[in-house]
Amino acid sequence: MIDPFGRDISYLRISVTDRCDFRCFYCMSERMTFLPKPEVLSLEELDRLCAAFISKGVRKIRITGGEPLVRRDIMSLFGKLSRHLDSGALEELTLTTNANQLARYAKELYAHGIRRINVSLDTLDPQKFNTLTRRGDLKKVLHGIETARMAGHHIKINTVALKGLNEHEIPQLVEWAHNKGMDLTLIETMPLGEVESDRIDHYLPLPVVRDRLESRWTLTDLDLNTGGPARYASIAETGGRIGFITPLSHTFCSSCNRIRVTCTGRIYMCLGQEAFVDLKEPLRHSISNDALNAAIEQAIGRKPEAHNFAIEQPHADPTLSRHMSTTGG
Ligand code: SAM
Repeated sequence: MIDPFGRDISYLRISVTDRCDFRCFYCMSERMTFLPKPEVLSLEELDRLCAAFISKGVRKIRITGGEPLVRRDIMSLFGKLSRHLDSGALEELTLTTNANQLARYAKELYAHGIRRINVSLDTLDPQKFNTLTRRGDLKKVLHGIETARMAGHHIKINTVALKGLNEHEIPQLVEWAHNKGMDLTLIETMPLGEVESDRIDHYLPLPVVRDRLESRWTLTDLDLNTGGPARYASIAETGGRIGFITPLSHTFCSSCNRIRVTCTGRIYMCLGQEAFVDLKEPLRHSISNDALNAAIEQAIGRKPEAHNFAIEQPHADPTLSRHMSTTGG
């Protein structure tokens, strides 16, 4: 699938639920209204959709949410999708999770061919963790991470950099991750969805974080392009890698190889824009894939060149009304 700007779209991130067992304050509001069940694609529909994308050239799929591991019977979807790994049609099937349920599923995920898991973790302070997530138990999450590592998974930690909340803990998080052989990627807060707090209060530009890390450690840029927004550097003293996702201070669009599908079957051609193409209707109303394939082609033909996030204005409406938990992280 080649888009109008010549980019080969080979990476699908698909959200399997908008529900989550946490309520991270920058991601969701305290009282979220979740989607009525009939609007959410069934596991069979998700499987069919993934197969359609694979037949059109997708080589990597990341399952995300909401929290994918809270979806009932989600292991059966991983089980079904593993046939594409076995056949070689799919290079990689990965997962993004908060790790709250990971201890329970780590072995089964490995058996289904998952090898790399991204875990979102913003602090190693149990009290702060509970406050940030509005309910989480850090011990359970750390146990989930350890269980997954023991099962053979490569874990990458994703940390949202939050001014006044975890900014002074970032070196500690990096050391902790690197000591366990895990890369860590820092993410700037993005203006997605209504939440109670004003995000500008916690917006921490990553160039500032990088300067601070460089006053402590030796960072060397790596020529590692994953087609995504992260730029990587190695840290000589810890021997690990750190990624920086800076959607607001830089653009990362020229090499974007990805598309996102929500759990309601909307394909968003760009995380930072409102335009979408509905795939649920063609999926539900025909057993043939003709209309579905046409809708996918239409979407790829409309992938924009770049996003246009803005968070500069205090008290501004979110640039995009949908939450990250809707589009999938
Ligand atoms: N539940 C899974 C998890 O925790 O990784 C997957 C979904 S979660 C929405 C994916 C990622 O998006 C998490 O790392 C989360 O911290 C991040 N995220 C959510 N809202 C965000 C925002 N407004 N700005 C930046 N990152 C955000």
